[in-house]
Order: sequence, then structure tokens, then C-alpha cells
Amino acid sequence: MAQPEYLSDALFIGAHPDDGEILAGGLMASLAEKGRRVILADATRGEMGTRGTAELRAHEAAEAAEILGVERTNLGLPDGGIGREMEVSVQEVVRAIRKYRPRLVFTHSGSDHHPDHNALHEAVKRAFFLSNILKYDTDQERFKAARLLFFWSHREKLPPRVDFIADVSATYEKKIAALKAHRSQVAGTGFEGPETFLTGDLFWHRLHARFGYFGSLIGVRYGEPYLAEATLRIDDPLLLPDVT
Ligand SMILES: [Zn+2]
Repeated sequence: MAQPEYLSDALFIGAHPDDGEILAGGLMASLAEKGRRVILADATRGEMGTRGTAELRAHEAAEAAEILGVERTNLGLPDGGIGREMEVSVQEVVRAIRKYRPRLVFTHSGSDHHPDHNALHEAVKRAFFLSNILKYDTDQERFKAARLLFFWSHREKLPPRVDFIADVSATYEKKIAALKAHRSQVAGTGFEGPETFLTGDLFWHRLHARFGYFGSLIGVRYGEPYLAEATLRIDDPLLLPDVT
């Protein structure tokens, strides 16, 4: 089979409009700075969120995407119902994969506290396969992306598994700025609303501690952990960055 024609370098698919920023914002910004075409697809509009509205969140998401340097789209799946509407969810992800034809696809790792995150993990795994099936009909050409990768969840289960860590020290400030663009969602922006997982006093502390810890494992200031569905292949270990 001929090598697929890629139209983008990476498609990141998060369940809600701030998941991509929190879990993979540093790597997205870093790829974008290198001139790579990065698409961030939010599966839902976050309309079931405790704070903000779908309209407000769409504005915040657009601002955050600009900070990160990525293109953003929305799959329009029901917030809180990605698993309930699994066949629709799979089909919408297939549509996005066939539309953007990315070399890499990233999504949630599938061991989180939020059922939407875990359901999206399953939907993307199925869609990654089905997007290359000729008779899975979406009125688009079939397409095979090269690799499926997962960003860590908010509450990964122990013992932790990590296949690689990306140095995001240079783009960590962009990640934080993009996250703060979600004014209705995170602590410290002055937005008034009910308390959530993201608005407590410990939110920023936990975030910096987590990505600082993964940075320390590779000898840098901040790192983001990722998992690979298939074993990573390294033909020339000399091309790997030195351990510092
Ligand atoms: Zn989420």
C-alpha cells in the first residue's frame, strides 16, 4: 500500500476544552514552534461543566489555541455522554482523522477519574483502526495514521507507566498561559463560580509538581509523560539526547 499523504503532523484529541492544555500543552506548543501543523480537537464543548457556558468556553478555547500556536476544532460530542453514544463518538473521531490525515494521533490514556476521558480513549483506539477500513463509510478516503500515543491522565493509576517524556521546559510558560485563557475553569483568574477539581488552592501546586517531577526524570525543568500504543522503535540510539 502506498504511503499515506499526511495533511498534519499531530492530532491531539481531548475530551473537554481544557484537557489538551493541561495534559499535553507543552508538547503541542513545542511542535508548533518547530513549524509542525498541530490540530487540537476537543471532543465536547464542555457544556456540562460546573462553571462557564459552551459559548464562553469556545471563546476561551480559541484564545488558548492561539497562544499554543495550534489549530482547534470541536467534534460536537455530548459532554458526559461520550461512552453512552460510543458508535457516534467513534464515527466523529474517524471523520476527524480522515479529514486532518495526521501522522500522529494523541488522546487520553484511559485510566482517569472522568468517564468521558476513558470513553474517549476507547473511541479513539477504535477510530484509529477503523479510519483505514475501506468499508467504514464516512464519504471520505480511508487513512492510516502512523502512530497512536496517549498523554497521561489527571489521576493515573499506580504503578505508573511512561514510555517517553518530552522536555517542555521551553514552552511551559505558554502551556500555563493557554491554560489560564480558560478563565472560567481554573484557579486564580478572578472568575466567580462553584469550586471544582481545577479551582482549588492545590491545583497549580499539583500541576507544577507533576510536570516538574517528570522533568527531573530526564534532567530538565519540566517534562510531559506519554504512553505509546505500539513499542517505540529506536534504530540509532546515538540520535537520542544525552542523559543529563
Ligand atoms: Zn476533561
